[in-house]
Amino acid sequence: MTPSHHRAFEQAKRYIPGGVNSPVRAFGYVGGTPRFIHQAQGAYLEDIEGKQYVDYIGSWGPMILGHRHPAVMEAVHQAVECGLSFGTPTEIETALAEKICQLIPSVDQIRMVNSGTEATMSAIRLARGYTRRNKILKFAGCYHGHSDGLLVQAGSGVLTFAHPSSPGIPASIAAETLLLPYNDIAAVENCFAKYGSEIAGVIVEPIAGNMNCILPKTGFLEKLRALCSLHQSILIFDEVMTGFRVHPQGAEGLYGIKPDLSTFGKIIGGGMPVGAFGGTYEIMQYLAPSGPVYQAGTLSGNPITMAAGLATLNELCAHPESYDELKMKTHSLLQGLESLAQKQGIAFSTTGVCGMFGLYFRDRPPEDLDEVKTIDETRFKAFFHSMLDQGIYLAPSAFEAGFISMAHDDQSLEKTLHAAELAFKKL
Ligand SMILES: *Cc1c(COP(=O)(O)O)cnc(C)c1O
Repeated sequence: MTPSHHRAFEQAKRYIPGGVNSPVRAFGYVGGTPRFIHQAQGAYLEDIEGKQYVDYIGSWGPMILGHRHPAVMEAVHQAVECGLSFGTPTEIETALAEKICQLIPSVDQIRMVNSGTEATMSAIRLARGYTRRNKILKFAGCYHGHSDGLLVQAGSGVLTFAHPSSPGIPASIAAETLLLPYNDIAAVENCFAKYGSEIAGVIVEPIAGNMNCILPKTGFLEKLRALCSLHQSILIFDEVMTGFRVHPQGAEGLYGIKPDLSTFGKIIGGGMPVGAFGGTYEIMQYLAPSGPVYQAGTLSGNPITMAAGLATLNELCAHPESYDELKMKTHSLLQGLESLAQKQGIAFSTTGVCGMFGLYFRDRPPEDLDEVKTIDETRFKAFFHSMLDQGIYLAPSAFEAGFISMAHDDQSLEKTLHAAELAFKKL
């Protein structure tokens, strides 16, 4: 059916473990052969056979403006003309840092890195250095990149010392990570009652976008804020995905809660590799060379990345109304999908916040990882492949959020719903 992709994948597997540079791309969950993409424009991807897809991955988050936005492309071209990297301070780094500090209320200072993984890893080192404590509290199903202490999964029981979820992570490191179910306020209270004075920080996705798209229950984030303040622990919002996507001020602005530290990535690089962590002046001054906590990066603040990121944020600021439009597009897509599923009598539900959404073959949206695991996986996989065949590219996993961009228009949404009608019918 897809000979070029099959050939390309076989070739890739000879030289790259699993044929991919990041595991979900390999279609391991849904089965079949991943599509090799050649180029993209606006809301569409085009594969190496010339087939077009409406793109709901958006490079896993960065492409909020759609692919090849003219302002971003122009900024990158201009930056490239001046040289690729200098390893010295540049004015454009300050410009992007200033922009983010102006937009995000809790951020007084920010440090650029090259990935979201580095951002969360460094934010945690800073929280530990600042508080002189070791334990980090995280939530099952939240993903904060692949650094050792954050790559832990749930054990049984309400509160467990986390077990490493990958070989190669020493149990002694995983033991410093406390793990709780997302949205479980009582568990957080118990945990603080027991370990409060040892907890350096709590790291949380304020909207969980790495176990599909789970919204925080009312009071959950407020409780985290209150407990961290009470016990002098650092509250870290991991906004690598939600930052500048769910609201112009990220989830912090959407929910009106100020964390002590925040991590960013994805959108702030406009499609180039990026990460950043920022927060209050007092905590950020603890970072080298101002303070004792060490952190560095050869290509951090790279001028091409800074140009793409700054152009993206400038574009978003110039058109604040586009967030409302994005919200409406997401809403009408989800409403459309729900009513099509209902017509076929299929148990199906959705969640959505501005440009992020979740689809579930389940009668109501899940509230934590255990509930996500109860979706009808067979139906999801069949739906995914039917949509892909019809030119609709959804995330190849039931545990990833979907992304919609400002470049998605009525035509691409109609095409999606048209395909979904057939896909639901065939289930
Ligand atoms: C994508 C993501 C990361 C990791 O970012 P990378 O750039 O892939 O290292 C961390 N946290 C969250 C919430 C993410 O969505």
